[in-house]
Amino acid sequence: MIHLTAEFLCPRCNSIVSLGEFDRLLECVQCRSRTLILPDPFFQYYLPPVAAAGRENIYIPFWHLRGSVYKVIQNSDRTFSIQTQYLDSIQSAIRSVRFFDPFGKDTLKKPLKPVKPGIQGSFVCPEISVPDVRSEHSQSVTGSGVSGRIVYHDLITEAVSLIYFPVYVKNETIHNGISDRILSEDAAIGLREKLEKHTPVSEWKAQPLHCPQCGRDLRNTNRAPLFHCEHCEIHLVLYRDTLTRCTLEWSSGWGGGLVFMPFWQLILELRGIEEIIHTNRNSRSLRWTDDLETSVTTALNVPAFRVHPAVFLQSAEAISKCSGCWNSEPGMPPAARCLPADISVNEAVKILPLLVWRLASMPEIFNSIRDRSIHVREIRMAYIPFRKQKKKWIQTHSNFEIPMSALINPCNSVH
Ligand SMILES: [Zn+2]
Ligand SMILES: [Zn+2]
Repeated sequence: MIHLTAEFLCPRCNSIVSLGEFDRLLECVQCRSRTLILPDPFFQYYLPPVAAAGRENIYIPFWHLRGSVYKVIQNSDRTFSIQTQYLDSIQSAIRSVRFFDPFGKDTLKKPLKPVKPGIQGSFVCPEISVPDVRSEHSQSVTGSGVSGRIVYHDLITEAVSLIYFPVYVKNETIHNGISDRILSEDAAIGLREKLEKHTPVSEWKAQPLHCPQCGRDLRNTNRAPLFHCEHCEIHLVLYRDTLTRCTLEWSSGWGGGLVFMPFWQLILELRGIEEIIHTNRNSRSLRWTDDLETSVTTALNVPAFRVHPAVFLQSAEAISKCSGCWNSEPGMPPAARCLPADISVNEAVKILPLLVWRLASMPEIFNSIRDRSIHVREIRMAYIPFRKQKKKWIQTHSNFEIPMSALINPCNSVH
């Protein structure tokens, strides 16, 4: 993973606070305030160049995209298969400057700063939009051996930011504004033409982290992207840009030696869909109906931990099929080993169309996924027990296993 840090100024005391490029919780050690920073629609950063007299800095925009590509292929025998790819890349946001990558190891260590008015230099306006990059990546996974037709593709981004990188022109060559190295021998004319008057504005809102009910400070819930008000005894989660109630539950009853994996349990209203309970197999599935007025309220489970996209979708499917098979109790598992949650609910909900389609036995009418509306009615976090066995975790009830090698953030694994 590409880990970049950013430096913000504390909205209360103006001290420098350093946090991850995609983090939203700003915790100031000076004044002890805690603030949510909410970008609109994504963060815009720049890297400060090395100061040099008489040099005109030009800032070139780059996208940093992290996400999963899902592509549904209808094979020639009319069966469906799903191709996935995990993506974490920085790429130019202007077409003519796609041939160089200034992000070396040394520059990746420099902290990013949010774009603000008054920065010396010229900014190149991004030519490639996020939807452009999205569709480009969705189509680019086409590997060898694909003989079918792509019926659905999406890049589900977990994080996006725009980063302006400083360069300057000397003797008609483009130089890196941080390392002073030559970036391109090509004439810099193309770049000059793009220097229209562009002033980037980074829009973000700072919201003090207070309980929406009583106004007191909120605490983090241990090892989860959740906040807790000790006074109101409620948990909250950031859903869209709003602190929303979230309840916690865990499933017990299988003795020791268990690892508890966090899942977002989303209570949804699905329109145009029916639920079918298979009592004999202790599972359930969904079915498309032609009546778009039909609706069902049901819970689907999406992993709250980062695994490779194919396993992510399989886990969501296996646990959702089987949900209701176990008894749940409110709260976190007591003194148990939990895998930390590192996927936000905002990210988890993006997989829902694909998940609903899978649970509905992949009907051929793929495009009609978009007609079936999905509304989140309630958010829960459910800790589901897995048994560790060699290099995998096994969920006994649903007979489903997750290979440990599928974890994307291995530093988060339970020891
Ligand atoms: Zn402060
Ligand atoms: Zn409260």
